[in-house]
Amino acid sequence: MNRVETERRPATGRPSRDHLGALRGGSFTERIVAELAPHVPPLPCCRAALIEGMALAGDGEAPVTTRLVAARAALAALHADSVPASVERLATARRHRYRVSIRPPVEAGTVAQEPPTPGVGDATAAAREIRDAGPSTGGAAARPATPVRPVPSTNLCCARSRLRGAFLACGSLSRGDGPPQLELLVGSEGAATRVLEDLGRLGIAATSLRRRGRPVVAVRSAPGVATLLSSIGAHLGRLEFEAGRVVGEVRSGVNRRLNAETANLRRTVSAALSQLEAIERLESDRSRCEALPPALREAAVLRRRRPRDTLDGLAAAAGCSRAAMAGRLHRLVALGGDLGEG
Ligand SMILES: [Zn+2]
Repeated sequence: MNRVETERRPATGRPSRDHLGALRGGSFTERIVAELAPHVPPLPCCRAALIEGMALAGDGEAPVTTRLVAARAALAALHADSVPASVERLATARRHRYRVSIRPPVEAGTVAQEPPTPGVGDATAAAREIRDAGPSTGGAAARPATPVRPVPSTNLCCARSRLRGAFLACGSLSRGDGPPQLELLVGSEGAATRVLEDLGRLGIAATSLRRRGRPVVAVRSAPGVATLLSSIGAHLGRLEFEAGRVVGEVRSGVNRRLNAETANLRRTVSAALSQLEAIERLESDRSRCEALPPALREAAVLRRRRPRDTLDGLAAAAGCSRAAMAGRLHRLVALGGDLGEG
């Protein structure tokens, strides 16, 4: 029944928007969500923690997310423990949000089919289930009246799973030229504290801030983001993140060097051009040219013969120091410049 319930939901109206985004390359966040979503935690405690983490994006009662794929992940985790649940689409001003109701809303037709079970239809029944259910008989034929909802443990497995749920529901990761920005847009201050606590247990430094009145938990360091991605099981995401980081660092290093070299080259070329122009002017005035000191004349001849040489190359060819060659060329430019103006 749960299955049918799920497939009948209006939430499935646009089935694979997130998925297509991921296939097309999408954003980094989408790819991580796509990696995390299909995996249902094997331990009941971790499944409960996943749901708890997803509820941190909303009022803390039920998973709330803008991502259909994440809502589906919540359903899969709940259904693994035979907890009836369904997805409602909440129309909000800006974008759709999906809320996973732990107990499906009572529909006409469904009521008649349900055997009269104490507690069914009660608003607080979900909470009561945990208390009342007791140990399950496990009989295959017997229809379990109230499924046992597992609860999260205090172990690290559940801290990781809760963070995974929070990222699925409300996490994002962007990576520009600056430090990475991993953010969890949680629903309340209490939720932010919970997330910070879990992050602290994993040794990940994070800060809590407010944006447009909503609390945001942010991880800004590259090692912190890498650890978090591994902890929540986004191993491909981490590889991609690290690869991108290395590529980014190499690229910016290469760019810096290229820029510096281009600037040097431009300076060298423009210096050589003005030297050649000055030499040309000097040589057009024979008497002036012959009056040049031998060192300057030699420098002029060398420059004409080797228009692309660097200062070092010319100095080596002349057998003088770099500074001496620079001085000679400088004087040639000054003398040629005088001629040009006169
Ligand atoms: Zn666990």
